[in-house]
Amino acid sequence: MKITDIKTTLLSFPIPEDKRWRTDLGVATKSDNCLIHVETDNEITGVGIGFGNAEVVKSIVETQLKPSLVGENPLYVEGLWEKMYSGSRGKPSLSRGVSQPTFSRRGDTLCAIAGIDIALWDILGKFFEKPIYQILGASRSRVRGYASGGWAPGNKAGEEMAQYAAKGFSAVKMRAEGIDGFSYTKLRTRVGSARKALGPDIELMVDAHGSFDVSTAKRVAKILEEYDVDWFEEPVSYDDHIGQAEVRKSTSVPISSGESESTRYEILDLLRNRSVDIVQPDVAMSGGITENRRIASLASTYNIRYAPHVWGSGVTFAASIHLAMHAPNCFIFEVSQSNSPLNWELFVEPFEIKNGYVHAPDRPGLGFTLREGLEKQYPFQKGPNYTY
Ligand SMILES: [Mg+2]
Repeated sequence: MKITDIKTTLLSFPIPEDKRWRTDLGVATKSDNCLIHVETDNEITGVGIGFGNAEVVKSIVETQLKPSLVGENPLYVEGLWEKMYSGSRGKPSLSRGVSQPTFSRRGDTLCAIAGIDIALWDILGKFFEKPIYQILGASRSRVRGYASGGWAPGNKAGEEMAQYAAKGFSAVKMRAEGIDGFSYTKLRTRVGSARKALGPDIELMVDAHGSFDVSTAKRVAKILEEYDVDWFEEPVSYDDHIGQAEVRKSTSVPISSGESESTRYEILDLLRNRSVDIVQPDVAMSGGITENRRIASLASTYNIRYAPHVWGSGVTFAASIHLAMHAPNCFIFEVSQSNSPLNWELFVEPFEIKNGYVHAPDRPGLGFTLREGLEKQYPFQKGPNYTY
């Protein structure tokens, strides 16, 4: 079998003005997807997503990666990952047994590599007629989900989080900064109302998107301790692994991060510095299924759990399902409460989420078929996804 072509589809979902929310990331105005389709001479097509800047990812796929992949056997996923990562030195990299990466090996380039890698795994599964997680080696066929939302201001936070628990989720996550902005008092009100509404038995997590300095994050962690918070996510800048370790040492609240990291090398730095209790890489940003399998395994050697970051696209959701079913150290799965159709309307088959559990599909490959006419329904729009 040979790769014959690699195509991309750009999609956008502009968020209606009355549905826009503010967090520490700013006001979300739209969401984009760069879907990647790897075609073969065998009538099998694989789909993936690179979750960087959609137009840049498209360009990297078409100009940098596709020319080196057309004609290759798509079933050689590990070798093709190395070829994409090492660029023109892909061949010596494999014959010498050491990566010789290109200068542009992170950021949107890695998102593009991730997207193609996910599509290659989809092809592999379809070729062998098994779901990807069974080819990787399965640990489970369902995983506990957690509802990820929590933007509501003040005491409304309790109502919002209780709605998610009522859907059957035994764990829920809220933003450290809600629509009403951040102060210690506002945080106390929002997290306090959430804990009160949820009762003692529903797990509650808080995400700060790397928006605090170390001293603020330590004070926030102290507040979160009062409300029995189950993890504090990205307390400080993703570039400050040492600072994050300091926050972690100061508190009994577990620290999680990883969605903003690229490759196993950056995750290794988090682990070596004792900066995390839970790693959360994003399959569509940190290197695809090939790299995330390595990351989950690497984390397990540090006795650290794996909880994939799952956001912004149904294709990310589908690919992450297979990693979660495979990795023994995965214990929970992010289920976005954003109503973006790019999360929930891309596929013919619905995701199976029942009583707070995400179930694996039993169909081959990713197990999901893209709907026709997506480009017409969600035409791409230029411009930023957030304003501040
Ligand atoms: Mg997060």
